[in-house]
Amino acid sequence: MIYLDHAATTPLDPRVKKAMEPFWSNEYGNPSALYKLGRTANTALQKSRKTVAEILSAKATEIVFTAGGTESVNLAILGMAQGFQHHFHKPSHIIISEIEHHSVLHAVAAMASWGWKVTKLAVDKDGFISLRELEKAIQSDTAMVSVMYANNEIGTIEPIAKIGKLLQRLNTQRVAKKLPRIYFHTDACQATGFLDLNVNRLGVDLLSANGSKIYGPKQTGFLYVRSGVVIEPLLHGGGQERDLRSGTENVPGIVGLATALQISVKEQDRENQRLIKLRDQFISDVLKTFPEAKLNGPDDRQLKKMAPPRRLPNNINFTFPGIEGEALMLYLDAKGIAVATGSACATTSTDPSHVIVALGRSQADAYNSVRFTLGRQTTAQDLKQVIKALLEAIKLIQKANK
Ligand SMILES: *Cc1c(COP(=O)(O)O)cnc(C)c1O
Repeated sequence: MIYLDHAATTPLDPRVKKAMEPFWSNEYGNPSALYKLGRTANTALQKSRKTVAEILSAKATEIVFTAGGTESVNLAILGMAQGFQHHFHKPSHIIISEIEHHSVLHAVAAMASWGWKVTKLAVDKDGFISLRELEKAIQSDTAMVSVMYANNEIGTIEPIAKIGKLLQRLNTQRVAKKLPRIYFHTDACQATGFLDLNVNRLGVDLLSANGSKIYGPKQTGFLYVRSGVVIEPLLHGGGQERDLRSGTENVPGIVGLATALQISVKEQDRENQRLIKLRDQFISDVLKTFPEAKLNGPDDRQLKKMAPPRRLPNNINFTFPGIEGEALMLYLDAKGIAVATGSACATTSTDPSHVIVALGRSQADAYNSVRFTLGRQTTAQDLKQVIKALLEAIKLIQKANK
């Protein structure tokens, strides 16, 4: 089998599994308990927190462990909204991009029903937001900007550090005018393991990440919350995670998440280089084999040596005109190749991808798109085989369409 859906989820790294194992059956204590079994679990919890914090150049107290990316995003955005309304006794304004993940889109939809104003920034043909448009969208009552670090469908890397700088400058002026400080949240679920996570270089107040996309366990994640940033919990109970996320901690999951993050950061530079080579070769091979195919998202093949990357190293997304993405996916599946269609993160939805449409493409282009996301096991040989299978599949589908 050739698995090319690493943006959906990754297999558990055996090293991660090994690190997690003791905490299921032997060291099963509740980290809040004060006897030895509890203290051992608590030590593992604090060690994991320290590992994550160091990678982000953050303080251990700024890391809140959650049950995945969706929960981190909801805690950041809805937690901010609740805190804001509690303090100011009214809803306010949030700015996001048009191509956010559904966890962001649906969280702000809930806020809209509470009376919040929502601005969705348009993106250009490659999926980038405009800093100028962002600055224009800011109002006196803007409470938060939430822009994803890297897009899950087309791999576009947004200019997070530049947004961070802009907001820092505006916030200095706002404090002088006694306006509320704008919080900056980034959904880093796809960036984790590939890009710089230093929260000070990025200038973010909140950052969401998950474990299942970095060869860690599913339903694990964390939210970075900068000291002084006020958010309110979504879950109420025993007061774990500095009262921001009650519930007995998932100790094996947290140990796994921290181990997975540590491994991916350590191997990041070398693995990125390897993936970029594979990605660019695959893009060139597809365009050579199917000249009518359209690459969705930025093309980094001609990127200058020191220029910052614009596309995730492992992401490829193509529209094959006249070829339904779903049909292609099913054909490739029959050949043992797993890829994603446009509506990758919502398998039950038949809506065209909001991301491809936001690029200015037609609904047909959105339906006719397929995402290939590479991973640690992917080889050049695999991708050659995929090109061959694609050629067969497209010929068959074209014949059937006639
Ligand atoms: C996967 C993903 C999420 C949600 O993570 P879950 O682990 O499914 O909760 C959020 N944002 C982005 C960009 C993602 O890729």
